[in-house]
Amino acid sequence: MNNRYIVFLLYLCAGLILSIALVQINNLANNHIPAEASAVPLYLQFRSSQTITLILAFVSVSVLFSREGITRELKRKAYADVTGIKNKHACLEEMSILDCNDTTLNIGFALFDLNNLKKVNDFYGHEKGDELIQSFATILKQASDKKYFLGRFGGDEFIVIIRNCTEEIMETYITKTRQLAETYNRGKATPLSFACGYAISTKNNYFLMDDLLKEADKNMYKNKKLMKSDPLMAPSQLSKILDSERTSFIGKDGLTGLFNHDAFLTVVKKAVLMSEAPQNLAIISSDISNFRYINDTYGYQESNQLLKQFAKELSAQPFCLCACRLYSDNFAFLAELPDISHEDATELIKEWCQHFSSTMNQTYRRSRIIINSGLYFIRESSEGVDSALSYANIARKHTKASPLNILVYSEAMEQTEKTKVEVLNTFHNALQTHEFKLYLQPKILCSDKSICGAEALIRWQKPNGALLYPNEFIPVLEQSGDILEMDYYVYEQIFKYLHQQLTEREKCIPISMNVSRIHLMRPFDFINHIRRLFAKYPIPASLILFELTESTYIQEMSSALLFIDELHKLDIKVSMDDFGSGYSSLEALKDLPFDEIKFDKSFLISSDSNSRKILLQLMSLVNSLNKDIVCEGVESYENVTLLDQCNCDIMQGYYYFRPMPIEEFRRQLKLPT
Ligand code: C2E
Ligand code: CA
Ligand code: CA
Repeated sequence: MNNRYIVFLLYLCAGLILSIALVQINNLANNHIPAEASAVPLYLQFRSSQTITLILAFVSVSVLFSREGITRELKRKAYADVTGIKNKHACLEEMSILDCNDTTLNIGFALFDLNNLKKVNDFYGHEKGDELIQSFATILKQASDKKYFLGRFGGDEFIVIIRNCTEEIMETYITKTRQLAETYNRGKATPLSFACGYAISTKNNYFLMDDLLKEADKNMYKNKKLMKSDPLMAPSQLSKILDSERTSFIGKDGLTGLFNHDAFLTVVKKAVLMSEAPQNLAIISSDISNFRYINDTYGYQESNQLLKQFAKELSAQPFCLCACRLYSDNFAFLAELPDISHEDATELIKEWCQHFSSTMNQTYRRSRIIINSGLYFIRESSEGVDSALSYANIARKHTKASPLNILVYSEAMEQTEKTKVEVLNTFHNALQTHEFKLYLQPKILCSDKSICGAEALIRWQKPNGALLYPNEFIPVLEQSGDILEMDYYVYEQIFKYLHQQLTEREKCIPISMNVSRIHLMRPFDFINHIRRLFAKYPIPASLILFELTESTYIQEMSSALLFIDELHKLDIKVSMDDFGSGYSSLEALKDLPFDEIKFDKSFLISSDSNSRKILLQLMSLVNSLNKDIVCEGVESYENVTLLDQCNCDIMQGYYYFRPMPIEEFRRQLKLPT
């Protein structure tokens, strides 16, 4: 009923009662009874007017009571929260009432705060968040005595006020609440967790309500901090959440049943957000090396079986929260690795990968299965998962150039990746605009220390003045295949230079040029190219040498033999570069088709007497095979005296000359020796 209407009725009744009473009093006082009324006995007149008065009084009293009831109901409604307990307004009023009492002694004030509500809202939406709030209010009610005051103080903050409270009463209440929450959490994907703090006003610690609230708040935060060091989102809980996502998500890879790329990113994003300890999470990108070869050897069906098996075994690992197949043989997964260092976590993943490969190698005996993995540890929950995945991918790609099959992402890797992209983007233009500059490092004859040759070494002079060294761009160009073009550019510059020297009747000494390994894949292209250069710049073949590294020779021996043979047909000498850097066996030495052996600079770096003895022995052995001996990395006078005792023919190193631009080299040649 409308409040104003009730008030109006009330005043109307009061008015009626008053006017009837006035008429009655007037009639009795004046004893003035109208003629027609005199027919009715006076007691009857009196009685009927009394009845009406009573009725009206009754009505007005009922109206008054119902008004009081309605006001109370309205007040109740104004103070009620959607959760069924009191709202903040009521909480504040209760606190001010308690403050107005004679004393607040023995009043207990507990403050509860739900953990992760924001995350639940973000992860599952507000409906789920509301459900948690509602459930918690119910738990508070269930644990409570009728006399306790329960209220929702804010979004996820609740208060409980207990009169005549003791520590024991409060602790019992909180324990009961925790037990009820635990029961509620059983089997729930979104568990309920809360922090709580309380304060009790005692003789020694007498508080006003506001101070009680502050004290309880302080204690609640202490409790929250403690809980953070003990992750609320236990691994099992996080994986439970992801399990529910797994069953509901439609973004799946048809072959393996894992998530597809997009679904994976969505789920990982949520998981990272939900996790209380995101630093325990890592994204791992893995691929099966040589998968194309496995495909060719075993066919699609059997190779697919391998992919399925990988997916199945990976998903079954306790560390794997969710996984996806990005494409082909590329997988990514989110791992949870709590309570162990990043090093141990990496070791754990590595061990699993090795275990998987060795098991699979039993089945796929005609190939060698190796899993390459890149790992990226999540730093914080706000981290972008797209970039986290790309960091893991970068780390995985770095395993290709590393003896290790698992690598953890580092910023240096990203820098390398950026440089790589920049190299590839600018290479062709740089070649056309002659940003590549040829440097020559003189080779010194041991017998008289004269310049007897040189090695061509490339430098990239950037427009901003920076000078890039080969190690910064050659590996990238080798990977992309662009090295072929670069080498041909170098060869042409050398042919041109030698031809010019000859035409100008200047001093001409042999120049060595490096040959990248991938030329061996197309040896005839290489030979034809060199033939064309001879045709364009007619020079004697004795003026050039090609250097092939020891590792290239050992790894591509059959094509290297053919390659060397073709060069020999053109009367071009071939040198084995970086000899002794780790691959050659003495057995292989005797059949070496090389004309020159270039000892790696590592021989001179180590100064112990054993290395020297080995160098001496090796040099005399190579000498007996009738090959020219060059030693690289001559940096000191000691190096020179050591080589003077050996059978070394030629030296190359900073002690004599660093690589220099061609113009400077020409000047050096003109100087009297
Ligand atoms: P490399 O063929 O073994 O070349 C010798 C490297 O040792 C050169 O480095 C040279 O500067 C350096 N060096 C020379 N004397 C000393 C010394 O006394 N001490 C030390 N510590 N180092 C010395 P650079 O020029 O940086 O070249 C590095 C590598 O890049 C070369 O190793 C070669 O494998 C490759 N490279 C250079 N130019 C070309 C090219 O035009 N084509 C191809 N395919 N590879 C090239
Ligand atoms: Ca070389
Ligand atoms: Ca070398």
